[in-house]
Amino acid sequence: MTTEYRIRLDRRACEGVFACLVRDGRFAEASDGLATIAGAERDADGDGDGDGDEVVVAFADDRLADAQQAARACPVDAIDVAEVAEVDDE
Ligand code: SF4
Repeated sequence: MTTEYRIRLDRRACEGVFACLVRDGRFAEASDGLATIAGAERDADGDGDGDGDEVVVAFADDRLADAQQAARACPVDAIDVAEVAEVDDE
């Protein structure tokens, strides 16, 4: 099932516990020791390198459940996953 969704990571809340990394490989450790998301399109400082206060990335694939598991695992609720639409694969 392909789903359009977006992941928002509030890096101000992130404490670098990295429970997210083991549940969804798109989460990664940034150079500042906090989490970021691979393929970040924008962040709060606008340069797209994933180290701003907030990172938002849109996806259209079958990995929504992975992102939701990462969000549930985060002890500080720094990850928000919002489903945008389901895409007909046929
Ligand atoms: S699980 Fe939450 S606090 Fe831990 S690194 Fe990921 S986003 Fe940050």
